[in-house]
Amino acid sequence: MSVKEFALEDMVASVIMEMMNKDDDSCQPTGDGIYETIDEAVAKAKAAQPRLISLSLEKREAILTAIRKISLEKNEEWAKATVAETGLGRVEDKIAENILAATKTPGTEDLDAKALSGDAGLTLIEYAPFGVIGSLTPVTNATGTLINNTISMLAGGNTVVYNVHPSALKISTEVIRTFHKVIVENGGPEGCVGMVATPTMETAGEIMAHPDINVLVATGGAGVVKAVLSSGKKAIGAGAGNPPVLVDETACIRKAAEEIIAGHSINNNIFCISEKEVIAVDEVADNLLKFMEETGKAAILTPEEAQKVTETVIHDNHVVKDYVGKNASVIIEGAGLTRLAGKKDLRCLVFEADCKHPMVWIEQMMPVLPMVRVKDVWEGIDLAVKVEQGNRHTAMMHSTNVEHLTALARAIQTTIFVKNGPSYSGIGLNGEGHATFTIAGPTGEGITSAKSFCRQRRCVLIDSFRIV
Ligand code: NAD
Repeated sequence: MSVKEFALEDMVASVIMEMMNKDDDSCQPTGDGIYETIDEAVAKAKAAQPRLISLSLEKREAILTAIRKISLEKNEEWAKATVAETGLGRVEDKIAENILAATKTPGTEDLDAKALSGDAGLTLIEYAPFGVIGSLTPVTNATGTLINNTISMLAGGNTVVYNVHPSALKISTEVIRTFHKVIVENGGPEGCVGMVATPTMETAGEIMAHPDINVLVATGGAGVVKAVLSSGKKAIGAGAGNPPVLVDETACIRKAAEEIIAGHSINNNIFCISEKEVIAVDEVADNLLKFMEETGKAAILTPEEAQKVTETVIHDNHVVKDYVGKNASVIIEGAGLTRLAGKKDLRCLVFEADCKHPMVWIEQMMPVLPMVRVKDVWEGIDLAVKVEQGNRHTAMMHSTNVEHLTALARAIQTTIFVKNGPSYSGIGLNGEGHATFTIAGPTGEGITSAKSFCRQRRCVLIDSFRIV
């Protein structure tokens, strides 16, 4: 772009802003992105949105680059603060989560326009913003979700009002305030990102009912997804999973063992995509357990130890929150497993379970991994489909038999299906493809990116512009 064009673009942007400022002085965005009320946060985001899209794509991209840069600069500090505040996960894995979100979330390049050219002329299809998004974020990946959603939503030309999880309030406030500051420093309007200072269920309800919120995005458990889908607004739901991993007799068993332990234990199992139960064909099950133990990161529990752990971490068919996202050593201590006391390097506890065991069915979100033995791959496929429970979330399989892999992929219908790798490869960590922390299975957007938060618009020119 020439200097002249830049100057012209700036003039147009400032004229638009001036006109909008005259229209409604009460909507002048000010502040640091943290507001007392939902009404105030939404008013700021509403005023900011046309200002954001009046900037060139180049400037929007510069804002996204600044968000990526500050996220990487603050990464270690944010990772430590998140673990300290929420008590969930591991600092080194939170660092990996933030790097993934900052570097592999697509920007404006995701908005690939389509042109249809024919006898009748030319039709252009482009992605346009919805306007203001209301985004409800989880405690489990507080920073990863904020980095990822902010880049995707702003790339699409939207502004966003967050209702963050109250248990991650301090770190989320810090992240949103920081993003607000760098957006303004890089030429963006004030109010592009915001949150209410004290988020509650009531403020979540206010966002859902607010007439100036155009789209809702829920990243969390089944309750919040159901709530946004009942709101009467366009809603994107990224809900809970219970990802099974099936290992058949043709798999490379040592590699499968290593990758299951790695995928299951990242962030102490709080990733929604992480392996939550293993289903192993009888012929290879013993070796699988042996190789898991040989990683030095997993302990195989005796039936008595497994019983103690189950009684400690599951009460009335619900997980005991105190153990969610905690290191294996905390569970070892809580369950009084003297044999494993002091083994700080262990990343997870594995045990052989009956298929009816509660931890096969409940999303445990802690480094305790049940393994169910099945007589053959077909029984394994049936069980994997049942334990996934129609979440359409994530599943893994280790096998070298293409028919077996295809059979499970077809039967289970998950949004992510990882073959011969750890679960996190499905969101771009050591895997091809972009990253997201909002995996919209229930509503079908899948591995969300900027275009998931946009609506399609079509522009038709009759009889001209076709060049061949
Ligand atoms: P959560 O459902 O308790 O909370 C998520 C957000 O929704 C929070 O901001 C919370 O305050 C709000 N909320 C919860 N219930 C609500 C309701 N009825 N009405 C309005 N707001 C409500 O989830 P969490 O414990 O923070 O996160 C863990 C869960 O999220 C797990 O089930 C995990 O699988 C899931 N998750 C899914 C994805 C995905 O991309 N699909 C990503 C991360 C986490």
